[in-house]
Amino acid sequence: MPDSPSGADALLLHGARLVDGRNVDVLIGGPLIEAVGTAGSLTTRGTRLDLRGHLLLPAPAETHLHADTALSAAAGSPASHRPDDVRRRATEAALLQLSHGATALRAHVGVGIRSGVASVHGSGRGGVAGLGALQAVLEARGSLRGLTELTAVAVPHVLTGVAGADGLAALRDAVDMGADAIGGCPDLDPDPAGFTEAVLDLAAAHGLPVDLHTDGEDPARLVRLADMARGVRSGVCLGPCAGLSRLPEGEAARTADRLAAAAVTLVCLPQGGCCRARLRGTPPVRLLRAAGVRVAAGSGALREEANPVGRGDPLEAAYLLASQRGLAPQDAYEAVSATARAALGLPEVRVEAGFPAELLAVRGDQLAGALSLSYSRIVVHRGRVVARTSAVREYCDSGAAALELPRQGRAD
Ligand SMILES: [Zn+2]
Repeated sequence: MPDSPSGADALLLHGARLVDGRNVDVLIGGPLIEAVGTAGSLTTRGTRLDLRGHLLLPAPAETHLHADTALSAAAGSPASHRPDDVRRRATEAALLQLSHGATALRAHVGVGIRSGVASVHGSGRGGVAGLGALQAVLEARGSLRGLTELTAVAVPHVLTGVAGADGLAALRDAVDMGADAIGGCPDLDPDPAGFTEAVLDLAAAHGLPVDLHTDGEDPARLVRLADMARGVRSGVCLGPCAGLSRLPEGEAARTADRLAAAAVTLVCLPQGGCCRARLRGTPPVRLLRAAGVRVAAGSGALREEANPVGRGDPLEAAYLLASQRGLAPQDAYEAVSATARAALGLPEVRVEAGFPAELLAVRGDQLAGALSLSYSRIVVHRGRVVARTSAVREYCDSGAAALELPRQGRAD
């Protein structure tokens, strides 16, 4: 056996199954995959994790969480925007989604909302200018570093007219504070084109990506929005575009061609929309993909008023794309992994040497089975196991006898 050059901090994943059917060893050193070889061919002086019986996948990424409203359903509505409450819920949401496998997560956060607790959190601009929730999410981003890569989208309300002056000032402050992207809902501004222009101008000035909400039920308006976003080098996501599912097929196809030409990424929310979307539903993803549109899927509302039962599980989003929209399992998984990572501006992950060690292991040997049901998961971020869920299934004696199985066993 070749000796590993890796040190004691290396991680060797032994005997994992890949989607192409190979059984492999994966040697990880630091944040990168160092080597992939036939099962049993690699050794390490570091940690060895037996992944026989597991399927090893590039980790999913969550493209669409609302960090300031997530996990607020139990407390009643509307969600509190007190910074300490937002920080706690954003952290809990990120860790929950990490346990599902998402090692990167983009969180939308309202800016310009007055928290009403400025006196509690000092004289900083957080409370005064309505940036307390963003500040809280940025603090969560820092405390979670090494576990998961949380990024924040600043979501202004109105950016045009007299009322827009405050919104624009808050948005500029949000960018100065360290927001990772700029978002919002142009359709809710009295001047949607003016709103979009303001967002694109600020994003271009700071080299930030843009992530806008739109229901997309008016194809002409959606195409105008996409055309404005054409050529933005830092990347533009539009979503959740549930209204596209209501268009006649010919009109949807023409719209899809225009979205493809504008090179925007469409982020759909198959699990039930979000607080900034009026419509529910999944756009026609097969038609969009056939037209060449990059389609990613996010989770959207996570146990909040807009979806009190939201799970925040990327594998569920992929399951719904496969089961309800007829995508092949590998295409459905791509929407929450490769395309999702690209939408977030993250480097590609493959289970090959030289690629980031952002991985998800689930029990089983087929992707279709993993999307059908995966309770047990092992999550690797930056080369470390950062979350592990292990399920056990038990039958009563007669049930176990009928199955000719031990009464207790592992569950997928
Ligand atoms: Zn949203």
